[in-house]
Amino acid sequence: MPTYALTPIEDLGIEIDRNDPEIAILVGKPGMESFFEGGGETTYVCADCGTTIAANVERGAIGNMGFECLGCGTLLYLPVYDD
Ligand SMILES: [Zn+2]
Repeated sequence: MPTYALTPIEDLGIEIDRNDPEIAILVGKPGMESFFEGGGETTYVCADCGTTIAANVERGAIGNMGFECLGCGTLLYLPVYDD
């Protein structure tokens, strides 16, 4: 079951205005274990702390989305995959 580490947005050199309502950044709630849980084969984790962001999802089903890590609060970016 492949696991991919999500890159912090800072490391990508992308500027994100967290107050911009056009930009979707998912922020977790206390007690959440991941943002998505599905029946696929791909798991995404935080590159900084290893916290699970999306568990068992279909690769490519989600993308172009920002997440505030549930573990360390770093902003992570999940790109769109074409394959
Ligand atoms: Zn983290």
